Amino acid sequence: MLAEKLLLNLLITIAPVLFCSALMDNKPKLNTPFLCGLLQSAAALCCMIFSYSNYGFSWDLRYVPLIMAFLYAGPVAGGMVLISIISARILMGGDTVLFGLVNCILTALVPLLLMKKFWNNPPNKRVMLTTLIGGWSLILCYFSLHVFRYFEGNIFKLDFNIPDLLMIGLIATIAIALAAKLNEGMIERNKMKDEIQRAEKLNTLGELAASIAHEVRNPLTVVKGFLQLMQQQEAGKNYEYLSLVLSELGRAESIINDYLNFAKPKFEKIEEFQLNSILTEVVMLLDPLAVKQGVQLESQLDSNDFSLNTDRNQLKQALVNIVKNAIEATPEGGKVTIHNKFDQASASILISDTGKGMTPEQLSRIGTLFYTTKDKGTGLGTSVSLRIIETMRGKVSYQSEPGVGTKVTMTLPVGRNEEWA
Ligand code: ADP
Ligand code: MG
Repeated sequence: MLAEKLLLNLLITIAPVLFCSALMDNKPKLNTPFLCGLLQSAAALCCMIFSYSNYGFSWDLRYVPLIMAFLYAGPVAGGMVLISIISARILMGGDTVLFGLVNCILTALVPLLLMKKFWNNPPNKRVMLTTLIGGWSLILCYFSLHVFRYFEGNIFKLDFNIPDLLMIGLIATIAIALAAKLNEGMIERNKMKDEIQRAEKLNTLGELAASIAHEVRNPLTVVKGFLQLMQQQEAGKNYEYLSLVLSELGRAESIINDYLNFAKPKFEKIEEFQLNSILTEVVMLLDPLAVKQGVQLESQLDSNDFSLNTDRNQLKQALVNIVKNAIEATPEGGKVTIHNKFDQASASILISDTGKGMTPEQLSRIGTLFYTTKDKGTGLGTSVSLRIIETMRGKVSYQSEPGVGTKVTMTLPVGRNEEWA
């Protein structure tokens, strides 16, 4: 009998969460503390109606909605449930009214005090905390029962044995843990929905920005052309000014190109080529920069070459951006090495430097559009490279230690007959 009543109570305690997730899915505005308080109050009252009576005591799970309301919906909802339980208990009357009321208020005290700190915890910890508070209410109930019996001279009789008490504890713990877990699931789902909506908005904004960037590039090319013509005819002071204007225009143009390449990498010419030839070209291209910085740029290439079938220029661009970053991060006297390794399924390119490295926080932000730590940086290089390699169905991973250096591993799948575009 006790088990049936408690299991029915268990269903009642999880009903408010199920009700909320089923009915308010498309109406998030309805999910207010007031409505939550109403639902949890109804659950607490139902628990009291379907409780197991034993010598004037009612055994039920009314404290589960009380704790849930305080922790998950705030003081208004919690207060509503508390008032409902107190009023119902007074109406029910009997010898044990005082015991019921004191117990209820003491149980409400802990979630009320912990309410603010509760939300500083991650979801799993919140479920654990709610379960622990549920356990606290059980222990409290057990002790206050003994205290009452002591003061009231054993007028209360109890015929519970240990298995019954254990069963009450177990079902109450399952009920509160389940209610908390379901609630967290609902919160997570709502968060994901918001996130998807935000991502959709950002996607539209990104497309808009790409089309604006595209439109701006054309007049910029015209202006640059005319300025170059003007510069050829200019011999006076304006010559220097025009040089400056042209170099800044060139910078603007390269930022726009990088952005457009990030927004939509264009694989225009798919061809078959050897990976080693690209790596050699990249080293040749960036050697002057390395020399200028006093950095040794070295390549140690595997003699077994690997043939790839993709847009050669895009791959070169991706490699140049990453190797350039490695050179820029390395102080004078440092070294940047490019290795490659082939196996049957993939080709790996390892770019390691003895530069300043990155902290875990910086490492987590790498590849985020416009993230840069350089004065004249654009924060586009890494994002473009990652995007290109991703489009080629490859992978890039970073390992870095501050003060020691960074290792970038790029893995490209074998795609001799496949078209990467
Ligand atoms: P930018 O080079 O314009 O700053 P990137 O997207 O190429 O933009 O790089 C973003 C940031 O990542 C850099 O500003 C730098 O702080 C960090 N970074 C990238 N590669 C390395 C590296 N090999 N060592 C240390 N920091 C790096
Ligand atoms: Mg860069």
